[in-house]
Amino acid sequence: MHATGTAQLDDAALRELEASFAGELIRPGDGSYDERRAVWNGSIDRRPAVIARCTSAEDVGAAVGFARNAGVLTAVRGGGHSFPGLSVCDDGLVIDLGPMKGIHVDPDARVARVQAGVLLGELDAATQQHGLAVPAGIVTTTGLAGLTLGGGIGWLMRKHGLTVDQLLSVELITAGGERVTASADENPDLFWGLRGGGGNFGVVTEFTFSLNPLPPAVLAGPIYWPMKESPRLLRFYRDWIAEAPDELMTIVMHRKAPALPFVPKELHGELIAGVICCYCGSLEDGEEVLRPLRAFGSPVLDLCEPKPFLEHQSMFDPGFPHGWWYYMRACDVAELTDEVIELTAEHSQRIESPLTAFPIWQMGGAVARVPEAETAFNGRRAGFTFNITAMTESAEGFDEERSWSREFWTALAPYHQGVYVNFLMEEGRDRIHEAYGAEKYARLQELKRRYDPDNLFRLNQNIPPA
Ligand SMILES: Cc1cc2nc3c(=O)[nH]c(=O)nc-3n(C[C@H](O)[C@H](O)[C@H](O)COP(=O)(O)OP(=O)(O)OC[C@H]3O[C@@H](n4cnc5c(N)ncnc54)[C@H](O)[C@@H]3O)c2cc1C
Repeated sequence: MHATGTAQLDDAALRELEASFAGELIRPGDGSYDERRAVWNGSIDRRPAVIARCTSAEDVGAAVGFARNAGVLTAVRGGGHSFPGLSVCDDGLVIDLGPMKGIHVDPDARVARVQAGVLLGELDAATQQHGLAVPAGIVTTTGLAGLTLGGGIGWLMRKHGLTVDQLLSVELITAGGERVTASADENPDLFWGLRGGGGNFGVVTEFTFSLNPLPPAVLAGPIYWPMKESPRLLRFYRDWIAEAPDELMTIVMHRKAPALPFVPKELHGELIAGVICCYCGSLEDGEEVLRPLRAFGSPVLDLCEPKPFLEHQSMFDPGFPHGWWYYMRACDVAELTDEVIELTAEHSQRIESPLTAFPIWQMGGAVARVPEAETAFNGRRAGFTFNITAMTESAEGFDEERSWSREFWTALAPYHQGVYVNFLMEEGRDRIHEAYGAEKYARLQELKRRYDPDNLFRLNQNIPPA
């Protein structure tokens, strides 16, 4: 409901925007309208009144000024990967950062300046040319902006920290139209809030990250067993990773084996449970660390091998394409207790859709060593992040798969310990509060009062002004 515009767009105001806007303004009836309003989650179908494709901070400033003066509902779009589709609205304005693709890598200083329309794969390609990387997410088509503003978890986080932990500064346009820099020295409060507080405080135009070295190849990929092995596998896994070095990051996946060329035909459609690894230290050390996992039971598929990081990074892309229907419930848990393992195995057996792929993220390492108070991101002590994703190709079977996700999540309720804000659907204020905890939420509300007192930027995991 709240993704519907509240004011009629005024033609005169639009003409004024046109005069000061260098990018494209797309309206219903324009040739690219349907392509530009579509977001990653195919279950979201909204029709904005205008999409402002920004090419510069000046364009963003003009669009924000128009939004403020016209009092129009405003969505902000980076890569369009919001699970609940918060980067598009009915009847209102979409401020689309998509054309802002600038990436400037300084390999000597190990610093990258990156504009807000960049996707993860584009940043990885630019930094990997120099053997460097910003730890970010696991699907290359995800937008850097939305991911970073929520925290950013992925394959390199246990070694180097969250995406927000790499930030040196952020440039943004506030609701009042001011261009502001946030860093440890300039507006440090805002810098704190931007590292996890989402798109609440303005439209980010550029990020500056410090870069980490990454070897030319990582030891990475999935190893799968039949799903009936899941309880035994998870108990083994729990003990195995208890002493894991920071170089190792794993994601546990339960799903039906996809019909992809590297999956043997006889496995297609079979329920499987696996561990996807990424070891970012020396390959020899990685082989040693992975040896016990490989020796567990009888894997039906082992695709874990040395490969360029970019190859590993794009491995998930075909499994999460634009346009399928997606729904997700998420929670952090402290430990994989026997009870959590039993529930996981039981509910994973009930996956119906051949597309549903449900990750459990191993947390810890460098993420947990940053003091909790340092950033607005709140899940540093989480043991594991459950991401119970229901996926179908279209509306067919979607309701059933969504019920599966909800039931599984509800069964895990006694073990919930917070939630990662970027893994929320539109779940209401209590859940957003849960994502930040009382103290951080209050601090974020105070920041919101200073930077966006009228809540212009409210299509997000919204923190109303204090
Ligand atoms: C396939 C897939 C894989 C994912 N994998 C990971 C992962 O590995 N790790 C992880 O941490 N998360 C992951 N996520 C979650 C992801 O972090 C969020 O969905 C995030 O919001 C995506 O950012 P975006 O820019 O693509 O989204 P958009 O839909 O464009 O934006 C989402 C929200 O971010 C805000 N926003 C976007 N751009 C700006 C900006 N320039 N200024 C201010 N606010 C802005 C707005 O509030 C907007 O509503 C994944 C999501 C998907 C769909």
